[in-house]
Amino acid sequence: MEQFKYKRILLKISGEALGDGSNELYNNESIDNVCQQIQTLVKAKVEVGLVIGGGNIWRGAKQGEKIGLKRINADYMGMLATIMNALVIESKLKALNVKVIVQTSLEINQVAEPFYYKKAISSFEKGYVCIFAGGTGSPYFTTDTAAALRATEINADILLMAKNGVDGVYDKDPNINKNAIRYSHLSYQDITNKQLKVMDLTASTMCMEANLKIMVFDIKVENNIIKAVQNKAIATIISNQN
Ligand code: UDP
Repeated sequence: MEQFKYKRILLKISGEALGDGSNELYNNESIDNVCQQIQTLVKAKVEVGLVIGGGNIWRGAKQGEKIGLKRINADYMGMLATIMNALVIESKLKALNVKVIVQTSLEINQVAEPFYYKKAISSFEKGYVCIFAGGTGSPYFTTDTAAALRATEINADILLMAKNGVDGVYDKDPNINKNAIRYSHLSYQDITNKQLKVMDLTASTMCMEANLKIMVFDIKVENNIIKAVQNKAIATIISNQN
């Protein structure tokens, strides 16, 4: 087994990573792929915290507005979507005999326990994967901010921000500009100065203040979660060091 650079990680995947890029909510192959890589990491004693978005099901601000919903309700619906996704991953990891718990910041006692960082940390030490569902538990935030928050609370070595089909942060939108250049390293200040769209501003401010390192990488490349933890993925690293 190749050397793993990070011991405790917080992996953020968007809800879309569970689909197949079309309108399908869940794609078996995509989900199995993520879960098998997590299994490999756990076997290698990497401690894995996971935040999953809900965008494959519902994005509060965008979709709620379309049908005239109050933003708060629409956002709570988005948080519920993240819990659905957490249950999918929980189930699939269990099928692979990976020990896993789901903690949620939005209480829903029948299916998940409430978020409690001390329990999360002791669970890592016992070899469990901890899935953090329900986002931050508050409307007007995103799961990127939840990931920054949880990564800080569990004292993760790195926040792995998985993107779907983009292998880092570019100076221009790489889907539109063929000559867009990928940054190999950025400081948080660069993100603000250059107004780069990596994650929402709340999340990036939080990472900056917590001095948390982020790796932005493409989850669609084969075994790239594993490669990211080995520090071998094509990626952009964001940190306070320049
Ligand atoms: N959301 C929220 N507060 C949070 C996290 C998420 O209100 O702390 C809602 C918000 O409406 C968001 C939706 O949940 O659009 C789904 O989360 P996100 O868009 O971050 O999912 P992703 O794009 O990563 O799949």
